[in-house]
Amino acid sequence: MRLSRYFLPVLKETPSEAQIVSHRLMLRAGMIKQASAGIYSWLPLGYKVLQKIERIVHEEQARAGHLAMLMPTIQSADLWRESGRYDAYGAEMLRITDRHDRDMLFTPTAEELITDIFRAHVTSYRDLPLTMYQIQWKFRDEIRPRFGVMRGREFYMKDGYNFDLTKEDALHAYNRHLVSYLRTYERMGLQAIPMRADSGPIGGDDTHEFLVLADTGESKVFYDSEITDLRFGDRDIDYDSHEQCRAVLDEFTSRYARTDETHDPELFGKIPEERQRMARGIEVGQIFYFGTKYSEAMGAYVNDHDGNRVPVHMGSHGIGVSRLVGAIIEACHDDNGIIWPEGVTPFHVGIVNLKQGDASCDTACEDLYEALAAAGLEPLYDDREERAGAKFATMDLIGLPWRITVGPRGLANGKVELTSRRNGESEEMSLEAAVARVSEIYGV
Ligand code: ATP
Ligand code: MG
Repeated sequence: MRLSRYFLPVLKETPSEAQIVSHRLMLRAGMIKQASAGIYSWLPLGYKVLQKIERIVHEEQARAGHLAMLMPTIQSADLWRESGRYDAYGAEMLRITDRHDRDMLFTPTAEELITDIFRAHVTSYRDLPLTMYQIQWKFRDEIRPRFGVMRGREFYMKDGYNFDLTKEDALHAYNRHLVSYLRTYERMGLQAIPMRADSGPIGGDDTHEFLVLADTGESKVFYDSEITDLRFGDRDIDYDSHEQCRAVLDEFTSRYARTDETHDPELFGKIPEERQRMARGIEVGQIFYFGTKYSEAMGAYVNDHDGNRVPVHMGSHGIGVSRLVGAIIEACHDDNGIIWPEGVTPFHVGIVNLKQGDASCDTACEDLYEALAAAGLEPLYDDREERAGAKFATMDLIGLPWRITVGPRGLANGKVELTSRRNGESEEMSLEAAVARVSEIYGV
């Protein structure tokens, strides 16, 4: 992409309405624009990051064997009356009446609709286990939408649902999700710690929230500092293996880590004092096992091996896809702007032309642009007639992890400069070497 042809409405001033750094930076970097309270348009740069996150979620769901699908945002109230949640959900549910006076709603989550699909088509244990998920817009009429996309009213969420014959199988689905979520967040450059939590309106006994530690987080958390040393890394896990998934769960949830809803001061007190941590966290996902709550209420039964009709065991699992954009920025920024992890960066590398209009600089930039694109990378070429300082400031603000600077002095020696946004370190090298290095970084 050439910046001269892109839509990047960066703001010079710090927007006064934004209280936290991710919200400020998303507005300043021209990623989003508020449409109304808690509802945002995603401008091209923001949308690209959202799509990168979405793609990682899809890839990791596929790896775990889960099936992608899509359900409507507008749903009939009748289904929600069956489960009893139409009344229970309260003011957070956006209720709509259509022209025939039928009660509709904008989906805040989709346990009812997926259960309705299930009960219409699945009648035998032979069709189990089954896990389907979607990535779809949700609406919750939050009383205090704030912090930009972190607590919106409309937000983008991955929601998945498992159907299993037995509790044991459903708990395996739970563990499998925990494993796949660990991998998902790490690919985005985040450490999200699973913490025992409270189930809220979804219901059920077993639930973990995934929290990214950040001072601006809305949740208060208590944990054993040793937990932050754990990394999932590049493990090759067989997602069908109960033992392997269980072992990962044990490893990542055996040390104390809880939100304030489930905090147990006595148990916490048993951790050596120097390891006791109290902090704040951003909830970026949650997994639930809720047994037969919905299947019994809504009649989702299957025939088991002996021909008995039994309610299926279910769970649901959510990832805050749009919230993650803010959470990643909270975790990855400095005074000059965003620092995207490679996994989610909107463009892989920026090209800064220090002397636009100079024939050799222009040619070198065009060559670089083409070579990077041919390698399968997406460069953002700042080809505007702008001062070098302004170009650097824009690149720093929008946070591409790598920058190639092209100027007449370096080019006289056949060199360009490759700079890391993370630590500011620069290295001079030939054009070809720069392309090779960036390709290597991204594994293309
Ligand atoms: P919270 O406690 O933050 O209100 P929740 O527990 O009600 O969230 P879930 O039902 O667990 O949310 O939804 C799954 C994920 O969707 C959450 O972990 C969070 O990342 C995201 N999410 C929930 N509410 C919002 C919101 N208002 N804006 C953006 N993302 C949200
Ligand atoms: Mg939650």
